[in-house]
Amino acid sequence: MDAHSTDDRDLQPHDRELIAAASALLVEAHDPGTHRVAAAAEGTSGAVYLGLSLLSPRVSICAETTAIANAKMAGEAGIRRMVAVGLDPSGAGVVINPCGVCREIVPVFGDDLEVIADLGGGRVGLVRPAELLPMPWVRARPYD
Ligand SMILES: [Zn+2]
Repeated sequence: MDAHSTDDRDLQPHDRELIAAASALLVEAHDPGTHRVAAAAEGTSGAVYLGLSLLSPRVSICAETTAIANAKMAGEAGIRRMVAVGLDPSGAGVVINPCGVCREIVPVFGDDLEVIADLGGGRVGLVRPAELLPMPWVRARPYD
């Protein structure tokens, strides 16, 4: 399924289904100028929502955020698990890790959320937001 899953024993069948759903979307929709990444998010209901990155010459919107928007528009209370994929040079979907902006945004939408991530060394597994962003941005004082 993906080139980085040589030691992905931590993934369960439903995790692989999430990766496969995002990969299938990206294989269909990939366009280097407009859609380079796809994401799949499992809502707390168990339903899966897809997202695509949206690119222009000056602005990029991440696939994770569009998947979360789709889930919220469908009435999901939150996100349980999610993954983003890109295409490797052979055209196969591979798990990619969230950008810095997504590392801040994604955790807002799931209290017990897990992200399927490339752990390095050819391993893919589940991580918690605190592992992706161990020192999150904080305000000096509350303004609300
Ligand atoms: Zn991002």
